[in-house]
Amino acid sequence: MNELRRKAERVLKTLVDEGFEAYFSGGCVRDMVMNLEPQDYDIATNATPQEVARIFPRSHNVGAQFGVVVVVEEDERFEVATFRSDHGYADGRHPDSVVYTEAREDVKRRDFTINGMLYQPLTGELLDLVGGREDIDARMVRTIGEPEKRFSEDKLRMMRAVRFAVQLDFSVDEATFQAIGKLAPEILQVSWERIRDELLKILTGSQAARGMILLDETGLLESILPEITALKGVQQPPEFHPEGDVWNHVMKMLENMHNPSSVLALSVLLHDAGKPETYSEEDRIRFDNHTKVGERIAEEVCRRLRLSRQETETVKSLVAQHLRFMHVRDMRQGKLKRFLLGPLFNEHLELHRLDCIGSHEDLSIYQFCLDKLKEYEREVPPQKPLINGDDLIALGFTPSPLFKEILAEAEDAQLEGTITSAEEARELVLKKFGHLLPRGKSS
Ligand code: ATP
Ligand code: MG
Repeated sequence: MNELRRKAERVLKTLVDEGFEAYFSGGCVRDMVMNLEPQDYDIATNATPQEVARIFPRSHNVGAQFGVVVVVEEDERFEVATFRSDHGYADGRHPDSVVYTEAREDVKRRDFTINGMLYQPLTGELLDLVGGREDIDARMVRTIGEPEKRFSEDKLRMMRAVRFAVQLDFSVDEATFQAIGKLAPEILQVSWERIRDELLKILTGSQAARGMILLDETGLLESILPEITALKGVQQPPEFHPEGDVWNHVMKMLENMHNPSSVLALSVLLHDAGKPETYSEEDRIRFDNHTKVGERIAEEVCRRLRLSRQETETVKSLVAQHLRFMHVRDMRQGKLKRFLLGPLFNEHLELHRLDCIGSHEDLSIYQFCLDKLKEYEREVPPQKPLINGDDLIALGFTPSPLFKEILAEAEDAQLEGTITSAEEARELVLKKFGHLLPRGKSS
């Protein structure tokens, strides 16, 4: 038995020794029945939060209004929740009130049958009052009770249904699926943070494409990311895109991701979001400027999903620059080096690899970059710059955003080996940018 399970059982046994009922509940029971290793163990009990707090002095009353106490056992934290039933969901998100009750009532408030079982590890009793075991055998996500009623109470459950289906490789029960289709637009009553968390679990899991297709078929995608449903039916030049329209292209990329970070997965989803708006038919189908438009759409989506500033900037940069790879073979040494050795290059390169796999499957540019990177690794580590901002000021330049450009030019020349000393760097800068010096200083 692993350490986590042993500690969880200690908490549970302490409650039982005090005369209370206690069970493992929710996802960990589902995982145990499926022979998967639970990531965490939640405990459900008939002890009230006050009683739990008394029995475990090292506990935190985090979700008092929902009857949840966090118990610390040997530095591990366990959620101990009092059996409860939830009442009234006026806002479509949270119960108006909770009432402490018995086990058979507690399981009915839970979302899906597969998540509604209780397990007592000391006796080996599996308390399955909702048909969870049967649905695990049938590999089926099904609400406990009437789907429409359950989704009306808490709209986030619609996203969770899709998330569990892809996470576990289950189907969604027909009535459950229909109910989502009916209520999908109401997903917008839920906070974007909660929507985002479910969306990112879907996108970074092993069935991201299937997850997007389910979100689309249920209508959830149209509500939360209309920019992505807009990709459907947008034709592309067949010589570069044998896979079909932009939606198919993105799905093919999602299918080929392996353990992506959230920002990479989002960038894959959004990288061609500028195509619908920029579609034109000239000599062939063209999407002029689509990376620029895509960058703007990516920013809008990241804001909507309440991503951090840094995550937003990363996604924007990945989307904006995904076509740079078409030119890497013609880039000047210095520029290429700066791109390949830049802080986000691994993500850029992985997006490019997926972009190719998701279309023509030609990986020659990808290979070119890998070879270049190997070459750079064998070289001496980058030297420190021959010239910096202070040197520019000493030369008479007035600090401005142009400094970045001037220093980049000098850095390129240094990387290419055309300048090798501070003196040469100053000469180069004066030659190229001397005209920018304030009057009287350029001599
Ligand atoms: P995982 O932790 O693997 O994502 P889980 O089943 O443990 O899956 P949690 O979000 O941790 O999911 O929730 C724990 C349990 O609480 C669930 O198994 C379910 O019984 C119940 N639950 C969670 N969210 C809801 C909800 N929105 N409506 C009803 N019951 C819920
Ligand atoms: Mg859990």
